[in-house]
Amino acid sequence: QIQKPKLILDNGLRLDGRKPDELRPMKMEIGILKNADGSSLVEVGNTKIIAAVYGPKEMHPRHLALPNRAVLRVRYHMTPFSTDERKNPAPSRREIELSKVIREALEGTILVEQFPRTLIDVFMEVIQADAGTRLASLMAASLAVVDAGIPVKDLIAAVAVGKADGIVVLDLNEPEDMWGEADMPVAMLPSLGQINLIQLNGNMTPEEFRKGMELAKKGIDYIYNLEKETIKNKYAEFKEEA
Ligand code: UDP
Repeated sequence: QIQKPKLILDNGLRLDGRKPDELRPMKMEIGILKNADGSSLVEVGNTKIIAAVYGPKEMHPRHLALPNRAVLRVRYHMTPFSTDERKNPAPSRREIELSKVIREALEGTILVEQFPRTLIDVFMEVIQADAGTRLASLMAASLAVVDAGIPVKDLIAAVAVGKADGIVVLDLNEPEDMWGEADMPVAMLPSLGQINLIQLNGNMTPEEFRKGMELAKKGIDYIYNLEKETIKNKYAEFKEEA
C-alpha cells in the first residue's frame, strides 16, 4: 500500500497548487451531441463528463408509465478508460448507487408533472475521473435537461468540500478525496436556496462543517454563474445564426 502523502504543503498550498478555498478550473458546454435531445460537457479540473438526455418520450413498456408525471431513467457510467486502471465496463455497485443518488437529486428539479405518461432518459458518461465525478455528472445532467428544453425549477450547482491535513478545503482533488479526513459533496438549487444532495464521508467537527458549508456556498455561487453563462452563450449563438 502507498503511504499517505502530505496534502497541504508547508507554504499552505495543496498538491495541485491551489489555496484551500480555490476551485479547480472549470469548463462547460451544452448542445455538444447532434443525436440526443439535450447534451452537455462538464470539465472540473481533469474530471470530464458527457451527459445526454432523450425525451420526454413515450414510455415502453407502457405499464411502467405514471399517469400524473414523467418517469426519469438515469444512468451514471464510467468508461473503461476513465480511470488509471481499466474499469470493467459492466455497471458496478457504486455506479448503480450513484445513478440512484443522482436520479433523486435531479428528479426534484424537473417539472415532471407537465409530462404525464412519458419517459425522460438521462445518460452520464465519465470520460476521465479525477475526483468529484458524481457532482460533475449531476451538473452535466442538469445542463443537458435544460438543453433538451425541459422546464426545471433551477439549475443544479455543486461542489465537494472536505478536510485535508486538518484544513477545510474546497473542491477536493483525487489525493484529497483518497487520503483526506472528510469528503462532503454538496449540490444546491442556488436561486431557491435549497440543498438537493449532501453526503458525508469521514469526520468533521460542527465548526468544520459550518466552515465547509460556507466554502461550498461560495463555490456554488461561482459555478451557478458559469452555468447560466454557458446557457446564455448558446442562445446568443442561435440568435446570431437567425
Ligand atoms: N475512482 C476510480 N475508480 C473507481 C471509482 C473511483 O479511479 O472505480 C476514483 C475517481 O477518480 C473518482 C474518485 O476515485 O473520481 C473518487 O470516487 P468517489 O466514489 O468518492 O466519487 P466521486 O468523488 O467521483 O463523486
